[in-house]
Amino acid sequence: MLRRSGLSLGQYFLRRKNRARFSWYLNKTKMSRPVQARRLEGVDKNIWVEFVKLAATYPNVNLGQGFPDFSPPDFVKEAFVKAVSGENIMLHQYTRAFGHPALVTNLARFFGKLLGQELDPMTNVLVTVGAYEALFCCFQALVDEGDEVIIIEPFFDCYEPMVKMAGGTPVFVQLRSKAAEAGKLMSSGNWKLDPAELASRFTKQTKAIVLNSPNNPLGKVFTREEMELIADLCVKHDVLCFSDEVYEWMVYDGKEHIRIASLPGMWDRTITIGSAGKTFSTTGWKVGWTLGPDRLLKHLRTVHQNSVYHCPTAAQEAVAQAFQREFDNYGKQDSYFVQLAQELQQKRDWLVRSLVAAGMKPIVPEGTYFLMADISEFKSEVPDLPDSDEPYDSRFIKWMIINKGLVAIPVSAFYSTPHKRNFDHLIRFCFVKEEATLKAAEDILQQWSLGKTGQ
Ligand code: PMP
Repeated sequence: MLRRSGLSLGQYFLRRKNRARFSWYLNKTKMSRPVQARRLEGVDKNIWVEFVKLAATYPNVNLGQGFPDFSPPDFVKEAFVKAVSGENIMLHQYTRAFGHPALVTNLARFFGKLLGQELDPMTNVLVTVGAYEALFCCFQALVDEGDEVIIIEPFFDCYEPMVKMAGGTPVFVQLRSKAAEAGKLMSSGNWKLDPAELASRFTKQTKAIVLNSPNNPLGKVFTREEMELIADLCVKHDVLCFSDEVYEWMVYDGKEHIRIASLPGMWDRTITIGSAGKTFSTTGWKVGWTLGPDRLLKHLRTVHQNSVYHCPTAAQEAVAQAFQREFDNYGKQDSYFVQLAQELQQKRDWLVRSLVAAGMKPIVPEGTYFLMADISEFKSEVPDLPDSDEPYDSRFIKWMIINKGLVAIPVSAFYSTPHKRNFDHLIRFCFVKEEATLKAAEDILQQWSLGKTGQ
């Protein structure tokens, strides 16, 4: 050993002594108190980290995470290019913290019309870093220790940790599914709230309800009747509504997106949340917003001001210009919102056909760019997956990524812990993908079903 290291005996012992001293020092200075803040307890696991990593590791067709793999429209890209290379060099600097003036003005004008409400750009609109930050501001600003927040299952997964990090208690109520008519596929419209069950969740501690229509992951578009039921309960119990409407333009088959803030008694107690990522197919820009009465938004502004402070100026300017164009084309065939919904409906139908042909049972979504599919029939086709605490859908998808090269997201991730196991026969696919991607997915599914029948 000594001969190999080329050290003299003296040097060898000196090195050993230094090493021993160093490890004594490390032990002595190691932190022994808990480092994690209590509010992070139980919220430190995240589905996206694991599945995004898996999708990046194996060659695959990715129908997992919700982002378009095609270009945003030219007018949107051109607006961004103009913002960063045009004459107004101030677009590279900070702008107004609560929203770039051009954007808040256009948002107020656009949504004021839809909500039937005169919106003041300075007090009724707050621009955030994506809808994620908008949600975070709602919970941090308006939910206290001991408050209950009603969440409708299945739900966009960050609602639960966000409520908990604010010190609140999530209270869950499930959408209950009714069997499809004979010979028909199930629709997301077959999933409904039970009015009595919903009413039973409202207590003296209820501070807010989170509504997500169109809903991720199910694709359900809540009807006017369902919205009225929720609105009546909010008014009766003096409860706030955080209305996550990021998929507002992705509604199919002539269904209508209802804005709960426009229902009687709701403007004053609702925060409406939107996202340019979904609206203009630019998820990477991370521009989102909240709309609501000043008495609520002023508290969100406090959180935003003291945490994020500001959303990138050039991206805000580009979104402002994009809204200007949509305002001029509203409801016309030239409108991106109209075109996107038409294209997505075709993509939805294509994916539904591919899944049916392969033997999965898709639940046809009325909105969003997601659909859930039942994989029960596949249990016997897939080699025994090692049993563990992990829900079946999660194990199934890991197997599917590695063996079939197809990525989806487990639906159990959109349920609270006690309910996960009841929904682990469902997986979520995203269809905001270009034709080549949907074709590649169709091919994989076709090969799979041929293999199953032994052809
Ligand atoms: N709400 C829902 C229902 C979502 O699906 C998403 C994104 N997947 C968000 C909010 C967050 O949107 P953004 O990318 O604008 O932060």
